[in-house]
Amino acid sequence: MTNYIEFSKEDVCSLERKDIDIPDFSELEVVRYFTNLSRINWAVDVGFYPLGSCTMKYNPKINDFIANKFNDFHPYLDDAQPILELLKKLEHSIAYLVGLDAVSLLPAAGAQGEYTALLIAKKYFNTKSELRDTVLIPDSAHGTNPASASMAGFNVITIKSNNQGQIDIDDLKNKLGSHVAVFMITNPNTLGIYEKNIEDITRLCRDYGVLTYYDGANFNAIIGKLRPGDMGFDMVHLNLHKTFSTPHGSGGPGAGPIAVREFLKRFLPVPVISYNGKYRLDFDLPDSIGMIRDFWGNIGVLVRALAYILSYGKDIRKVSEFAVLNANYLRKRLKDYFVDPYDQEFCAHEFVLSASNYKPIKAMDIAKRMLDYNVHSPTTYFPLIVEEALMIEPTETETIHTLDHFVEVVKSVVNDINTDPSLLTEAPFNTPVGRVNDALASREPKPTKKSLNKE
Ligand SMILES: *Cc1c(COP(=O)(O)O)cnc(C)c1O
Repeated sequence: MTNYIEFSKEDVCSLERKDIDIPDFSELEVVRYFTNLSRINWAVDVGFYPLGSCTMKYNPKINDFIANKFNDFHPYLDDAQPILELLKKLEHSIAYLVGLDAVSLLPAAGAQGEYTALLIAKKYFNTKSELRDTVLIPDSAHGTNPASASMAGFNVITIKSNNQGQIDIDDLKNKLGSHVAVFMITNPNTLGIYEKNIEDITRLCRDYGVLTYYDGANFNAIIGKLRPGDMGFDMVHLNLHKTFSTPHGSGGPGAGPIAVREFLKRFLPVPVISYNGKYRLDFDLPDSIGMIRDFWGNIGVLVRALAYILSYGKDIRKVSEFAVLNANYLRKRLKDYFVDPYDQEFCAHEFVLSASNYKPIKAMDIAKRMLDYNVHSPTTYFPLIVEEALMIEPTETETIHTLDHFVEVVKSVVNDINTDPSLLTEAPFNTPVGRVNDALASREPKPTKKSLNKE
């Protein structure tokens, strides 16, 4: 039998409606409110969403349906064999896909996975009484990498990229040493370029006793084809909400499980799921870094991920094959309209172009104008090392018609630049909200009914 946490019936029954501050609306009003909100929002289910680095692919509804089956399991259940078994299966699948030994499903996002793994690295070196206080991170990295390293108490040193958009090995060699704890990298990197020398890089780090960390945000580019463990990495996170079928955006929920090599397993956060004829949540791990969150992880996201993996089976490599094919097709068709900063023959699952040839029109103006043509814009101004960057990730779930349509959109925008630049600098015109002050809008958001009603 399962036990729910106990609370006093009297507490609940003595409450009256007036004691609780609930707004008074009819069901219809609430339905209309949320339906209208959804209609002024953009989503993968509405149209193309090539937001680079975010992997805005179609998330099959069947995975939502399956996750919903688990809605009634409360995290205070003291025993839920089916869920624990499911989570164990997911751990095994992830370990297999990344080529490492042990997994924690607890981190709620990629960034928390990074932070958790860095705490593990810290504990590992403390246990060995090695004083290592530095993390090396390429200049193309996502901002969460240096942020996590700094939160975990490390100094961050940046490694330069070379003119091929890859790690400058000499710079890495100069900066490696006995003070370095971890080298973190995304591969393919945020330029959509695969690090050709990745095995030499991880070997070099190992020679210095440095742990290597694989930021798996771009796992969509290699899933089923390559494994970070085989590239030589010691620790990995995956962003299940990016690669593994959880609709995301606007802050979650997500999941950023980590996988580590056997020698780091004893440091994983608790609880771990152990099996001894029966599954159970095990808090008894003397070397663990401790708890990093409450309960068992974001179950809905984890269920979707397992459903997604199992529905592909050994065909999961098709995800990366089509993601890379779509990106290369789109890149070939768009290259001539922009500056190609690295002129590689091929890209991985995404690519970065520079809009610097349209100055004084900015990448931001181009992105805003695209909205008027009913597509989401690419990521802009990231990675930081490319001037006026447009980062485009079509994903594997788009058809060639959608990609061709996007090329037409880009052509129309270029035509607008040549005919009437004010169409760019004042865009968007056709969206529910016009151009906002980005910084102010995120610091002091003021969603009002007025903006809701504007069609
Ligand atoms: C998205 C992303 C992250 C952070 O992941 P979250 O799940 O958003 O915390 C880290 N690195 C890269 C390269 C990313 O694209």
